[in-house]
Amino acid sequence: NTKSLALHERAAKVMPGGQANFRGGLLSTPLFFSHARGARLWDVDGNEYVDLINAGGPGILGHNDPEYIDALKRQLDTVYSLGSGICQTEQDIELAEKIASHVPCAERVRFCVTGSEAVHLALRLARAYTKRPYFIRFQTHYHGWFDSVLGGVVDEHPEGRPLPLESEQSFFHTEGRVPDAFKYSFLLPWNDIDVLEETLKKYGHEVAMIHMEPILVNGGGCPPRPGYLERVRELCDQHGIVLGFDEVITGFRVGLGGAQAALGVTPDLATFGKALGGGMPMAAVAGKAEIMDQLRTGKVTGAGTFNGYPLGVAASLATLKILERDDGAVYRRIDMMQARLKEGLLDICKRRGIPALVQGPRGVFFLLFTDKPVIYSFQELMEAALPRQFKFYSTMPEEGTLLMYGGRWYISAALTEADVDCALESADR
Ligand code: PMP
Repeated sequence: NTKSLALHERAAKVMPGGQANFRGGLLSTPLFFSHARGARLWDVDGNEYVDLINAGGPGILGHNDPEYIDALKRQLDTVYSLGSGICQTEQDIELAEKIASHVPCAERVRFCVTGSEAVHLALRLARAYTKRPYFIRFQTHYHGWFDSVLGGVVDEHPEGRPLPLESEQSFFHTEGRVPDAFKYSFLLPWNDIDVLEETLKKYGHEVAMIHMEPILVNGGGCPPRPGYLERVRELCDQHGIVLGFDEVITGFRVGLGGAQAALGVTPDLATFGKALGGGMPMAAVAGKAEIMDQLRTGKVTGAGTFNGYPLGVAASLATLKILERDDGAVYRRIDMMQARLKEGLLDICKRRGIPALVQGPRGVFFLLFTDKPVIYSFQELMEAALPRQFKFYSTMPEEGTLLMYGGRWYISAALTEADVDCALESADR
């Protein structure tokens, strides 16, 4: 890969590790891309890949969907630069209405640009609404890179509160964070209702929000235990706590109504990003009118120059229209390709005598090397599968044709049977 290597060297002189994070990890692999079509990507050396990264979630339609591109071009020809909160368009309303029609909790919708911002705004709304400072989050649930919600190294809680359990070196460890960024949060194990109940018995009156990925994609594609989300919902009602679902990954990917519709538990607030823009940066907070309307009265302010930027709104509208079509034909296609890929991967593992489990919701799954039938938390993953998993996590295929990261596989609507077979052949090597 001579051209990629040359670019890597050139980048090192002007970009700190390129755009890649995670010290020396797989994302800093010297690999530069030139173009894409459907579910295929090409690097500058002409190697062809099946794209199972999908930009880390946004690319639900695959590359170059003609209708999506048309919508963006039309928007560019109409108007693309408007300051948010000053100039609005009718499409803003249309998009908010669409989201409200699909997402159970969405009585009101506010647009942002990234998932991190959406989470930040949701947290602020919850704190203002409850007049309480704390929030509860869960191990390996990822809610963006802002100091207050980032996972990391915590040895003791500054006020002697229940110790955040994530005390070992985490994937997202960073120096330079505000020293007491954790001060107003509890970090609990997920899918463990007893720990949550105990914590709330003592501290529930101080907790503004519980925020979680309703399906834990960032910790191994874990489903909630039967009854867990329902009980969390009850506890939030009992303690007057805002229940937030982080649907940045699951939103519009698991289905038009997100995980909350699929699982039948409605939060008070939900955060969206990734697939909402179909590839362009778009994010949103959606939720109950009473909480969201704090933005209308000015009790809570959010900001963001690019919030609701016309190109992003057009991208989201186009994406949702495509996802709505033919009673969810895109989702049926994703299901088919996911099933084929899953079957193929399990077959490869079986032939090699490697224990394997494929788990995750529609559109994104993990291949876990364990003989357990299901993994419910990151702790379980560590115990059951991780020693082998690590090897897998850091593998970047050298021969092209297969591209995934962090052990997760994102499925786009552009994936064909030929793509899947090609990816499987590569995985088999
Ligand atoms: N929440 C979840 C569940 C995510 O997976 C991510 C991104 N991986 C975020 C929030 C942050 O979104 P962004 O990277 O767009 O800021």
